[in-house]
Amino acid sequence: MTRFDIAIAGCGPAGLAAALLLHRQGHRVALFERFEEPRPVGSGLMIQPSGMAVLDALGLAPDILAHGAPIRALHGLNHQGDIALDARYDDLRVPGACGIGIHRGSLFAILFRAAVDEGIAIETGFPVARSDLEGKGRTLTSQDGQKTQAFDLVVDALGTSTPLAAPCGEWLAFGALWATIDWPADSPFDAGLLEQRYTHAAQMAGVLPTGMRVDGAGRELSFFWSLKASDYESWQAAGLDAWKAQVCALWPDCEALLGQIGNAEQLTFARYAHRRVAEPVGKALIHIGDAWHSASPQLGQGANMALLDAFALARGLEGGSTPAEGLALAARRRSRHVKLYQALTWAATPLYQSDSVWHAALRDLLLTPLGRIWPGPGIQARLVAGLVGDPLAPLGLALPDYEGLLAGR
Ligand SMILES: Cc1cc2nc3c(=O)[nH]c(=O)nc-3n(C[C@H](O)[C@H](O)[C@H](O)COP(=O)(O)OP(=O)(O)OC[C@H]3O[C@@H](n4cnc5c(N)ncnc54)[C@H](O)[C@@H]3O)c2cc1C
Repeated sequence: MTRFDIAIAGCGPAGLAAALLLHRQGHRVALFERFEEPRPVGSGLMIQPSGMAVLDALGLAPDILAHGAPIRALHGLNHQGDIALDARYDDLRVPGACGIGIHRGSLFAILFRAAVDEGIAIETGFPVARSDLEGKGRTLTSQDGQKTQAFDLVVDALGTSTPLAAPCGEWLAFGALWATIDWPADSPFDAGLLEQRYTHAAQMAGVLPTGMRVDGAGRELSFFWSLKASDYESWQAAGLDAWKAQVCALWPDCEALLGQIGNAEQLTFARYAHRRVAEPVGKALIHIGDAWHSASPQLGQGANMALLDAFALARGLEGGSTPAEGLALAARRRSRHVKLYQALTWAATPLYQSDSVWHAALRDLLLTPLGRIWPGPGIQARLVAGLVGDPLAPLGLALPDYEGLLAGR
């Protein structure tokens, strides 16, 4: 295989995984990141079996498990105490299969350390502004005008607001407040569940166990509270006590957590965009991860899709006889799964985050009961596991040996 000079823009899961995979194939890889000290932004996320297959192929699955929390099911109750979400990984019929709740910082640290250990060049403090075709290759230029050498290929892994693709899609009305909280002693929460509570779909609170962070001192969880972007200012103005009363009215057990939140800065407001760049491949350029497609985290797929995109890129370059052919192959192998999950997430989001009481009624009275009748459980499990549309087979990936991994934990 020809070895290429490859610039990867962005040190998120997509960029770091792509860097490791391409470096191991023998390409000369350089990573560019805007932060001086590369760091993850945000709170917890779920590594699904789809993403875990990539991390396993990278040899990082044991580290992920060591710093995450195995999640056996997603469980939600509405304000009347009725089950509104019940998806169990057992229904995959894969021994030991689970989701992994993990702090974004741990996922980042594990991938970043691996990249540093393997000697991959990382240029920090380089806020990418644009990329230009030059000769046979492509350059990157930073916001302060620094220009790189020409690379055979630029991988855009800059996330949702990438400057390397034309803006597309839309910001969703609902986002969420997120906080990282110590796992409380005598916790009323189940360490193996992602739990949620809803008032129709207008209010949602969630607790995601995230295990012990890399360099952490104890187990943690991510707490999230659904909030409209347009209500953020009034939320700030109302003050923390008013908000805590609202949360506890919906989910009294949360009192055990909210004592740890003493000021509003402990809560990060995240907005979600639903967008997809129609053509992910340009001349000597490919968009991967959120730079290609992003959606609300309702189905918990974004980081997993980013990892799959990175893997597809490496496989594509291996299989194509030219970089252009390799990029086309990579995009083709991911395109169907990407479109499928964009549609599924678009359909699922208003069931959990919207002002529509009809969506919540559809969820509680029809979809959740159907989800417990054959073949509902299996379909639901595959949906949350990221496996609908079979994304692994075209990439030659397999699910990890969860039983072995959990036994070695
Ligand atoms: C609150 C929240 C909860 C989520 N929960 C889940 C979940 O449970 N499961 C899941 O799979 N996904 C989840 N997601 C989605 C997931 O976080 C993203 O899909 C994933 O991080 C995308 O990875 P990425 O590498 O493509 O982009 P990013 O993670 O956005 O990384 C982009 C990188 O590029 C850098 N960068 C950006 N712009 C520039 C620039 N101009 N120059 C240089 N560097 C730049 C950034 O600093 C960053 O390091 C969640 C997202 C949010 C917001």
